[in-house]
This record gives sequence, C-alpha cells and structure tokens, in this order.
Amino acid sequence: MSRLVVVSNRVGIPDGSARAGGLEVSIRPALKKRGGIWFGWSGKVAEDRTGAAKTVEHDKVSYITIDLLKDDYEEFYNGFANRVLWPILHYRLDLAEFTRRDLGGYFRVNQYFVENLERVLRPDDVIWVHDYHLMPLAQMLRERGHKNRIGFFLHIPCPPPEILTGLPNHERLIPALCHYDLVGFQTENDANNFSRYLAIEVGLKRAGDDAFHYEDRIVQTGIFPVGVETEAFARLARRAVNSQFVRHVMTSMADRALIIGVDRLDYSKGIPERFNAFERFLTEFSDWRGLVTYLQITPRSRSDIREYADIARQVGELVGRINGTFGEASWTPLRYVNKAHSRTALAGLYRFARVGLVTPLRDGMNLVAKEYIAAQNPEDPGVLVLSRFAGAARECGAALLVNPYDSEGVAIAINRALGMPLEERRMRHEANFAVLVKNDLTHWAERFLGLLEGPMAAEAEVRPAVRRVGGAG
Ligand code: UDP
Repeated sequence: MSRLVVVSNRVGIPDGSARAGGLEVSIRPALKKRGGIWFGWSGKVAEDRTGAAKTVEHDKVSYITIDLLKDDYEEFYNGFANRVLWPILHYRLDLAEFTRRDLGGYFRVNQYFVENLERVLRPDDVIWVHDYHLMPLAQMLRERGHKNRIGFFLHIPCPPPEILTGLPNHERLIPALCHYDLVGFQTENDANNFSRYLAIEVGLKRAGDDAFHYEDRIVQTGIFPVGVETEAFARLARRAVNSQFVRHVMTSMADRALIIGVDRLDYSKGIPERFNAFERFLTEFSDWRGLVTYLQITPRSRSDIREYADIARQVGELVGRINGTFGEASWTPLRYVNKAHSRTALAGLYRFARVGLVTPLRDGMNLVAKEYIAAQNPEDPGVLVLSRFAGAARECGAALLVNPYDSEGVAIAINRALGMPLEERRMRHEANFAVLVKNDLTHWAERFLGLLEGPMAAEAEVRPAVRRVGGAG
C-alpha cells in the first residue's frame, strides 16, 4: 500500500489541546489507522523563513508543520481564505472582501507549502489535500513534475456557478481543481454545482457520469459525506454522562429539560437566527417557561476578522435581551458559553440534552448534528432539530428538518421536539443512527482513498490524451 500524505491548513498534532473544528476531527482516525504524514501550518507566525519544518512522530504518523510569516497570516489565512473563499463558498457574496494583495498571498503560501512538501514526497505517495485553503496545490505540484495520485476533499459547501462566478479570479482558482485525480464533495448538491461550473464556465466535456476531460487528464468527482466514529462516540457518551462535569451540569439544571447548541462563533452557523427562534418559542409556547434551559456552547474563532467581531457583539446583545426579558431570579433561559469543551464533555451533554439544536444557514456537513445522534440513549433518545441547509440533512432525514431563516418554524419544531412521544423519538433516532453506523468516519476515508487509488484513477492515466479546444498545456 502506498504511503498516505495528508495535507491541510492546520495539523491536528496530538498535544492534548481541545481545538474545535470538524476537519481535524475527521482526518485524525484515517491517518491513525493507516499511518503516514500529516503536513500543514503549525498555527504559529514566525519572523522569517529561516526555520525548518518541524516533525513530531506519534503512533505511525509524522506530523510535519511549517510556520507562516505575518503577511502570510494576514493575506492567506485571514485574507483570501477566510474573508473571500469562506463567505462565498457559504453563499455569502455580500460578506466577501476581496483584494489582489490577499489573492497574491494565497498563491504564495500554497507555493510555500509545495516547496516544503516536496522535500518529503516520494513518487508513489498518495496525497490527500483538504479544503479551501489549498485549492491550487495539485496544479503547483504538477507544474513541478509530480505525478502522484492527488485527491482533494472540500469540507465546506460548493455553491452553484451563479455564485462561484462572483468569486474574483474564479477562472484561476476553480479549474485548478482539475489537476487533482479526484475531487470529493459532501453532498450531491455540492458535486452537481461543481460539475455545472466545469460544463458551463470551463466548457469541459464529460468523461463518464462523474468525470471530465481536462487538458490531457481526467478529473473524477465524487460524493463522500463525512461521518463520525458513530459507535465509538456512542460508547464515549455512555461513559461521559456519568462524569463529574456532566453530573454537575445536570444538578444545576434542577430537572429542567436541556436544549443544546454547539457551534464555533461563525455567521454560517445561524446563531442570531436561532436565538430569535428561541425567543419566539418562549413567547409562543409560554408553558415551557421555567421548564427548559438552552445551553449554547460557542468557542470564538477567527476573532481578528471584523465580521466575527460583529457577530460576537450581536449574539451577546441577543443573550442579554432574552435573559433580561424572560429570566427570573431562579431561572436563566439561555446559557451562553464561549469556552471550547472537550469531546468527552460534549458527548455527555449531548446525551443528557432532550433537544439538539443545529440550525446553520449553510454548512458543508455539520458533525455536531451527527455526534448528537450518536450520543443518544436509544431507549430514551433526544430529538435533533436540524437545518435543511446543513449537509447532514441529506442523511439525517429523520431529524426534524427546519428552515433556519424561519424563526416561527424553528420555534414550532422546538416545541414539537420537547413534546414528542417516546415511540416517535425512538423511531426517528433508530433511522438516523443506522445511517450513521453505515457511513461512519472509517467508511468515509476508505471510500475516498479507495476511489483515489482504485481503477478509475489508473484508467485515467492510460487513456489517450484528450485536449480541450483552446486548452492550455
Ligand atoms: N467541538 C469541540 N469542542 C467545542 C466545540 C466543538 O470539540 O467546544 C468539535 C465538535 O464536537 C465537532 C467539531 O468541533 O466535532 C465541529 O465540527 P462541525 O462540522 O460541526 O463544524 P465546523 O466547526 O467544522 O464548521
């Protein structure tokens, strides 16, 4: 079996730090099982480029990290990746702040990744690149003569061509993905949007149902909804619910029903909209006042970007308004916590919560939704209220699906979830859980790598060169 080299912006070095993010959570088990290299940014900003890449060996995996310069951090990470690609790929053209300087920084850092990566690459390594920070990586590697199998997985949504074309320089960025052998998406919708872009904007001809001819290569697309370690997470939740931390939270609830939300503080997560819906719920279904507590765990992220500071302020004001309006000396309706929690703590809280409230405005997948399902007691499960705009809604159709923009609809769903009879709760949970066992995290990684290393990619190599009319290269 070839050596696996995973490349992502951040690397999940096993140093015990509780970082909150779906990408790191999803990559780690795949690498742990097979071994290999995990390459990326250390998260540190250095004064100059003289420092060498650092390697930490742990359990068959070499974690290799490089530092970025201050300008790299500003232009690549805060700039093009998080102020342009993140909002636009989440359908928010209105929030994108494009500058040519940031775009330059994005390509410069990708080049820097490539220069460092090729020092450790072997010709038969299979390379798996993750997410929107590193879209041009395969093209840059190909230009330097690397012929490895290279796959790309987009963890976040891919919007339709009508929105993608609003991305300045999309002609340079999106077709660059065709230098990968396999480009994977979370949902059918995302994959279709990408295929439509290639057909309409780039004029590529299909080389099969899910493949396109591009210059002298074939690029294959695929749908790989990322999963969680369903059974292991269920076991963790069973244990964690008896932990001192969870018991302490339970005691503080004084027999009230718990509604839980867990999201990074990000405008894509729909937190203000969700708080408005909770306010609506307390207004319309006043019998529940004093009987429920909504705990929202929201670690801050990307705080040096203005939009994130704005949302932090907006959310803080809403918490004050709701607790001010409905709270009593002995009851706080909404507990809002900015601390990151360990996965064990979350697993226990999910299991204890009667309702999981996951209502992003747009989300590639949303692992919290899947973790909530995995953590439930099958004999007496809680109910997931899930946005139809989360990738997870495709698989978890037995949740109560809602439109997060419709605060009245979400309020009704919360009321329905809290009052749902046991039999219906069991039925819904069983259906969702079965899907998540079938498509767990191991299955996700095996399917992606199976296709990347399998016959389709081999076939692409030996096919006669088919050049696009007017195509370069
Ligand atoms: N998470 C965590 N601690 C926290 C908050 C979140 O470990 O305090 C984890 C959570 O359990 C999940 C991941 O971070 O596995 C978030 O993934 P998701 O896909 O829901 O959202 P993302 O942050 O990647 O957009």
